[in-house]
Amino acid sequence: MVLKRTALSLILGLIMTDASFAQNTPSTPPPTQRWGLVIHGGAGVLERGKIKPEQDAEVRAALDKALAAGSEILAKGGSSLDAVEAAVKVLEDDPNFNAGKGAVLTYDGGISLDAAIMDGKNRAAGAVSGLNSTKNPISAARKVMEVSPHVMLSGLGANSFAVEQGLRQENQDYFETPRRRKQLEEFQAKKTGWYDVDLKYGTVGAVALDAAGNVAAATSTGGLTGKRWGRVGDSPIIGAGTIADNRGCAVSATGSGEYFIRVGVAHEICARIRMKGEKAVPAARAVMDEVKAMGGTGGVIILTPDGQMGWSFNTTGMYRGGVDSTGRKVIAIYGDE
Ligand code: ASP
Repeated sequence: MVLKRTALSLILGLIMTDASFAQNTPSTPPPTQRWGLVIHGGAGVLERGKIKPEQDAEVRAALDKALAAGSEILAKGGSSLDAVEAAVKVLEDDPNFNAGKGAVLTYDGGISLDAAIMDGKNRAAGAVSGLNSTKNPISAARKVMEVSPHVMLSGLGANSFAVEQGLRQENQDYFETPRRRKQLEEFQAKKTGWYDVDLKYGTVGAVALDAAGNVAAATSTGGLTGKRWGRVGDSPIIGAGTIADNRGCAVSATGSGEYFIRVGVAHEICARIRMKGEKAVPAARAVMDEVKAMGGTGGVIILTPDGQMGWSFNTTGMYRGGVDSTGRKVIAIYGDE
């Protein structure tokens, strides 16, 4: 796997940039059969030695399972929308990530889940904020998009909508893990900030391109440890943490959401591609540089309708993976792999 490190320590995955698809090798599928999927499980202080070998292995296995769930759909000619939902659901169900089961706890010790999904074909979008019992928030976001006339539902209304739609509900015991309870207790004991200063990210996301040439994006998160007052991050905000637009790209972000909202990260990246003609990964890097200059940390995964795929992050690591129709697959955690 070829990775390039810049002076700014931004790690850019070149697994599947434009160059990969431009190669005219016998194994390169014709455009009508091309598909691709990139996923993330959060970015943050992810360093060798700080993550236990068992957790490292579990995370890689979960990323692999999520890639398998999404790519199975894409390889059969299924839609990018179905693929991103399927990949995200696998990660929501895995307690290692900050989404669905294993989500971080709010200041009051509760669960408050945010998610968004977008279809690049027609820019239809759905988002939910403040769910506290829906097992798979990404499916609630999809229902908002497909069944309701709205784009975003929050709090009590979002919860009752998810119930009305027949989505599986779980109690707090299902979502809460001992690790997240401990992180909240540590956060509360420090009394030093408005939110989790160690940035224990673990938000999950997926972007996909299907054989019909449509892109889609999905993001799901528990937000930040110790969040209060109904705080909403970038993940469910279309244009901040999630976007899909066939004219530009699909992006799913993870990181210090307040900065991502202020920069309008996902929209900004797609706008650079659409209006300035920039390539995907350089556009992502330019916008992540802006986030960094403001004091924000995190990363994005990106994919374009012409088959450019990759990521950019300004943290020491990002749980991430990608797979495409040429058979390439990568799963990585640390910045140097
Ligand atoms: N971006 C998310 C938020 O601010 C957190 C994360 O990515 O882990 O809610």
